[in-house]
Amino acid sequence: MTFVQFAYFFIALLHMYNAHRTVRSLNERKQLATSLLGMFVLTVFAVLDLLFNVVLSPWLGVVQGLTSTGIVLSDVCFVIAIYRYGVFDLVDTAKHKIFEQVETGLIVIDESCKVLDFNRSAVGFAHPVKGETFDLERILLSGQPANDVSDFLFRYRHHPGDRIRTELLLTDGPYRSVSLQISPLLDQFKSLQGRIVAFYDVTEQRKLIDEMNEKNEALHERNLELIAIQDELYRANKKLEKAAITDGLTGCYNRTFFQHYVEHEAFLCKQRGIPFSILLFDIDHFKQINDRYGHLVGDQVLRETAEAVRSTLRSLDLLARYGGEEFTVFLPQTDRDEAQAAADRIMASVLNNGVQVAGDTIRVTISMGIVTEGSDESAAASDAGSIPTDIAGELQALFAKADVALYKAKNEGRNRVVVS
Ligand code: GH3
Ligand code: MG
Ligand code: MG
Repeated sequence: MTFVQFAYFFIALLHMYNAHRTVRSLNERKQLATSLLGMFVLTVFAVLDLLFNVVLSPWLGVVQGLTSTGIVLSDVCFVIAIYRYGVFDLVDTAKHKIFEQVETGLIVIDESCKVLDFNRSAVGFAHPVKGETFDLERILLSGQPANDVSDFLFRYRHHPGDRIRTELLLTDGPYRSVSLQISPLLDQFKSLQGRIVAFYDVTEQRKLIDEMNEKNEALHERNLELIAIQDELYRANKKLEKAAITDGLTGCYNRTFFQHYVEHEAFLCKQRGIPFSILLFDIDHFKQINDRYGHLVGDQVLRETAEAVRSTLRSLDLLARYGGEEFTVFLPQTDRDEAQAAADRIMASVLNNGVQVAGDTIRVTISMGIVTEGSDESAAASDAGSIPTDIAGELQALFAKADVALYKAKNEGRNRVVVS
């Protein structure tokens, strides 16, 4: 029986020695220490039993219950080892299982970067060896980093307390995109104990992201094209809008737009009792210019004459080409005297405007008729606030008067203004 007991004893010691070699945590070390203490206590009491009850019994007599006491005390130690340090801690076992089975490669390193432990998956990403230094640089060099890793390496070396992450393409075997994350392991006093290095295979996610980026880029380009088309359309529309209301040769408003515009403005002026004037003028002897210099020069004279008139006008006045070489100007908020002054400015500007043609300077004069509406103080006062009923008819009558005045100016010798 003694032999069997010694055999058990040595087998137990052997197991504990093996356990001590592979022990991982402080908790497990304490477990072992408590168990060893239990065995030591049992041994001491067994030896005392032998000593007193076998060797010295003829002289000292029998001392009862020594081995039993040793068994009880050693059992207390074993119970402590089991319950206090959780030999059968299910959560710890589960954690260990998870550590071993996750697809994420995990390597635990101590503060001097020595590998303490790693799981099965870690072997697929790096080649860790327990007790050796974790060679991060070699891993980074063996793959193709997705971005500059110098900052990552710097922080790995000089800021071990930082949580850092980078991504790289592993090219040994089938290409894999790998996210490499290093996190500090801190104790309860927040002091660094080591670090955990995690490798995640993100190939699928990377593929999806790259595909999405490509699609986004294509969409962005399409968007830019659409914006360019929209811009072009907008400009074409503006051109069309302008072409619909202006005269192509002189850039003045055309007669249709002028009529609509003046109907609206004249209506407002009449409603508010504000005077307005209309000028109608025609270039003198224009036919002779065409005959002498040709139609192209005639066109140039028309353009420059229109420009000379426009330069004298206010922003609220409106110049339009009425027909051939005949133009009209609408002057809102302008009484008879002001209209006369505006006409004088136009006459002078046209006269001073020499059109340069092949060494020749062409000067033209114009004849003008003026009509003013609402200039008469009493009429303006009585009309103020009244809503005009037939503004188009009234304007037609005004143009007829201006036309008569213009013809009078022609008949009286041209290059003059006649107020209706
Ligand atoms: P008056 O002093 O009586 O107005 O004489 P006029 O020669 O200016 O008048 P008339 O009506 O005889 O001639 C007008 C000329 O204007 C005839 C026509 O060929 C010319 N004309 C009309 N429109 C244009 C145009 O767009 N370009 C050119 N070059 N000539 C034009
Ligand atoms: Mg003319
Ligand atoms: Mg004419």
